[in-house]
Amino acid sequence: MKLFTIFGDPVSHSRSPLMHNSVFKAYQIDACYTRTHLVDGASLRDVFYAKALSGANVTVPHKEVAYALCDEVRGMAQHIGAVNTLVLEEGRLIGYNTDADGFMTALQSFGSLTNALIIGAGGTARALATVLRQNGIIPTILNRSENRLDYFKANEFLSYSWDNFPLSTYELIINTTSAGLCDEELPLPSSLLSKLLSNATYAVDVIYGKVTPFLREVQKAKLPYKDGSDMLLEQGVLANHLFIDGTLSLDAIRETMSKSFSL
Ligand code: NDP
Repeated sequence: MKLFTIFGDPVSHSRSPLMHNSVFKAYQIDACYTRTHLVDGASLRDVFYAKALSGANVTVPHKEVAYALCDEVRGMAQHIGAVNTLVLEEGRLIGYNTDADGFMTALQSFGSLTNALIIGAGGTARALATVLRQNGIIPTILNRSENRLDYFKANEFLSYSWDNFPLSTYELIINTTSAGLCDEELPLPSSLLSKLLSNATYAVDVIYGKVTPFLREVQKAKLPYKDGSDMLLEQGVLANHLFIDGTLSLDAIRETMSKSFSL
């Protein structure tokens, strides 16, 4: 049996086991997907091999560490510097990033956009900034602390901390922070967030399965919005395709995986 897991801290909220196991079960693939609570990201590689895994997903806060621990990084992940999917290939750890393309597919229902504000500067923010720019949508990054902005500055993204942010108008406001994941915090000071939302057209919170404090503010501003469920599905479809070496089509995986959301 092939074994897969998701590494994260926290990880108990993750729907990934349900999603991937639903595909394995439906297509009688001899595989099982679990959760692994990992506090020390530096141990990820050792734990991967100790558990004899065939592949894994990586979530908050280990995506950047995972990138550094891979033997080889392919596709978008090379530009992003963060990995959310690991596949064992001939004993080597290969890293991919399916968050970026998963997010763009999820965004399609909003139609064409010209700019976006990304709140947060972690691994997910890197993926979204890279893929938005590739798709002609200008991203600006706004983070609580300055020290996470080095990657964005080095890659010529507009990036600010709370202390030096010049207020402007953005069509799309995206929360990529973990504020609201396990607490009741807003990702930005409330007055700044309400000004941004009052001038925006759409909002996305990448957190899924709950109405976060950020989404409550979005609802008050009466903006059309999405939580992270569509992105979760699409990144999962792409990851599963890699796990099973392309033996099922993306459409077949999506159809089965999406049903797991109603379980
Ligand atoms: P990281 O740990 O890499 O980054 C977290 C970011 O959140 C940092 O910029 C940090 O700012 C900021 N932050 C954390 N707490 C607060 C707070 N209270 N107020 C303001 N900013 C805060 O996380 P990831 O990028 O890996 O993941 C972020 C979120 O995205 C998670 O909630 C994760 O579950 C979700 N996610 C959802 C996906 C989906 O498919 N729907 C896919 C990927 C991620 P600072 O630098 O100042 O500490």
